[in-house]
Amino acid sequence: ETTYDVLIIGAGPIGLAAGLEAQREGLSYLIVEKGCLVNSLYNYPLNMTFFSTSERLEIGGIPFTSLNAKPTRAEALEYYRRVADSAKLNINLFEEVQHLQLEGEMYRISTSKGSHLARHVVVALGFYGIPNLLNVPGEDLPKVRHYYFDPHYYFRQKVVVVGANNSAADAALETWRKGADVTMVIRQPELGSIKYWVKPDLENRIKEGEIKAYFNSSITEIREREVDIETPEGKITLENDFVLAMTGYQPDFSFLEKIGIKLSEDEKRHPQYNPETMETNLPQVYLAGVVCGGMDTRVWFIENSRDHAVKIIDHIKQEQQAEKV
Ligand code: FAD
Repeated sequence: ETTYDVLIIGAGPIGLAAGLEAQREGLSYLIVEKGCLVNSLYNYPLNMTFFSTSERLEIGGIPFTSLNAKPTRAEALEYYRRVADSAKLNINLFEEVQHLQLEGEMYRISTSKGSHLARHVVVALGFYGIPNLLNVPGEDLPKVRHYYFDPHYYFRQKVVVVGANNSAADAALETWRKGADVTMVIRQPELGSIKYWVKPDLENRIKEGEIKAYFNSSITEIREREVDIETPEGKITLENDFVLAMTGYQPDFSFLEKIGIKLSEDEKRHPQYNPETMETNLPQVYLAGVVCGGMDTRVWFIENSRDHAVKIIDHIKQEQQAEKV
């Protein structure tokens, strides 16, 4: 059985960066990914443009060129695939990590396809796998979507978009432009964090009445043909075909707890790790990427978490050297 110096869970940008760094330092490694390569990016909206410029999405110092300053989803998929290919990264795709446990000095990592042994584990799970639920009756109807993909589908449909941030803004504007009748339901008194070049567009559509928006409001029930909304003026009922619940996502806390990573007691559920080395309360188990923020999923993104990979691999190298002495 092969034993690895490092097993990396997740082939998102940061898991791939950790693989590149391990390879560069001559460590044996395997990246295990439950979906396709950069699974989260694959599941982004089809026409999505990053808020980061392309050089800020680069990993391992490999240049990312794009036609415009801010690359599209398609360009990012192209980039990360080329990186994985040209560096011949060792990745198992469509294999989900289910558990890990200490076995002597090693961790045994059990997956949907078998198991692996590794001395160190990097947990780079991201946050895009589990949507924040509305927790209202009717949420389980097939017309309720927590991932928005393509606007064409919603042509001539009555769409309610829930949320006030980037994902909600993009979904509302795109579906409206492709002929949907769009109503936004926003819990707060104003729009939230939206790309600065998108926000005026949405504000103007709302001002013109082209997109309806209910602020300080929340959806209370979803039925096959209607939704109920609680507004400051009282409850209203709208005819409705689809609900796009763009209410954010959260890391897989149950996985982190199952393997024994401690989370803060408050609602932020920050996982415990040493910011110098990224090592968690479990020895030789490290955290990397957006998962580090717990419920604060906007603290870490690609540009500011790429160097988690470098810190982790540095720490592992130092540890190996100390063991040799
Ligand atoms: P992810 O990319 O989420 O990768 C985690 C991987 O782990 C996934 O592929 C997942 O399938 C896999 N995984 C999870 N559980 C398991 C398991 N049990 N076993 C095996 N594999 C598992 N960030 C930016 O920096 N710039 C932007 O412009 C930007 N735009 C965004 C736009 C949208 C619509 C969204 C939703 C996010 C955006 N982000 C952006 C945030 C971005 O998604 C994260 O910064 C980035 O994906 C973090 O990389 P990561 O490797 O930490 O996590």
